[in-house]
Amino acid sequence: MRDAEFFRRWMEAAAAAVEREADRLTELDSPIGDADHGANLLRGFTAVRAALAGADPAAVPGALLQLAGRTLISTVGGASGPLYGTLLRRTGKELGEASEVSDEELRGALDAGVDAVARLGGAAPGDKTMLDALVPGVAALGTSYRAAGDAAEGGALATVPMLARKGRASYLGERSVGHEDPGAASAALLLGALADTAEG
Ligand code: ADP
Ligand code: MG
Ligand code: MG
Repeated sequence: MRDAEFFRRWMEAAAAAVEREADRLTELDSPIGDADHGANLLRGFTAVRAALAGADPAAVPGALLQLAGRTLISTVGGASGPLYGTLLRRTGKELGEASEVSDEELRGALDAGVDAVARLGGAAPGDKTMLDALVPGVAALGTSYRAAGDAAEGGALATVPMLARKGRASYLGERSVGHEDPGAASAALLLGALADTAEG
């Protein structure tokens, strides 16, 4: 079972990964975007760190993820803020009031969270977005957390030959081909942080 401390550690690991990789995320967002993805997520996850540090020590997993999601929505100006915010809010909402959740429950909740992202952004796998890492990543949770992190990373790399159909990169049409999607790269960091937290 995974308790609130596990979810605090996951968000801390995600914030640390974003901090470490912020320059790379911004570089990926430079040829096919507006070169702010790393800065956007760094601002967002720095605020998530502060919000969780100030949260009720007795807060349950679902409440912590919802707080993290709300914080991303209110602090990240780019497209990725509402999308990641929705992912965490919806996942947290699915976890409800339980003080501990099973890996199976977390997997089901993340599935609902990814669905909510797809609905909000109107994107599907193959459109060269964060969903290209989130969908295979969450599907591989049935195997293990490490498999999910690896599948998300593979999904991010697989966006290189794709033509962007959603978000800023889609304005480039054919010129979006040949570059890794920054949001898919950050989604792989988020699921990699989950794997590190679960499996060390
Ligand atoms: P912005 O494009 O507003 O500057 P960011 O640079 O922070 O925002 O985030 C860009 C990322 O957001 C893209 O690389 C892509 O993965 C993701 N994204 C953009 N639009 C969508 C969408 N409609 N559905 C899913 N993901 C999207
Ligand atoms: Mg951008
Ligand atoms: Mg922007």
